[in-house]
Amino acid sequence: MSVVKIKGCKCLSHNPRTMVCPYDVKSPQNRFVSMEEVIVNNGPQGFSLARIMWDDAADGKVEKVLAMRWNGYLESDGHLNKGHPVTRGYPTWFIVPVELEEALLSHKDYLVNIPQRLDMVVVNK
Ligand SMILES: [Zn+2]
Repeated sequence: MSVVKIKGCKCLSHNPRTMVCPYDVKSPQNRFVSMEEVIVNNGPQGFSLARIMWDDAADGKVEKVLAMRWNGYLESDGHLNKGHPVTRGYPTWFIVPVELEEALLSHKDYLVNIPQRLDMVVVNK
């Protein structure tokens, strides 16, 4: 499994005012244990993908999971958009379902090729 690994952080000069730095996202606080590795950080208006240690309340074990979120950006009026998801005002990680981990990690060119959106298949209900 090959992934693009970014050393350090791509938020501008690690400046929390241009986006929410993935290294600063520690919510949900009752589940987040520690940051293992930021795999992708596309900067303001982009997304971050990271490995974090996660306290799985269901089985009581701490495990390494894949997490992602939109980084947010500085709005024209100077307000910091905190990206997504945000819970109770805190930037939060979205935990990627284990079934999707390999699909996300198998991309090797996140930062050089931004693909077109896939044509979505509409499912009739
Ligand atoms: Zn940073």
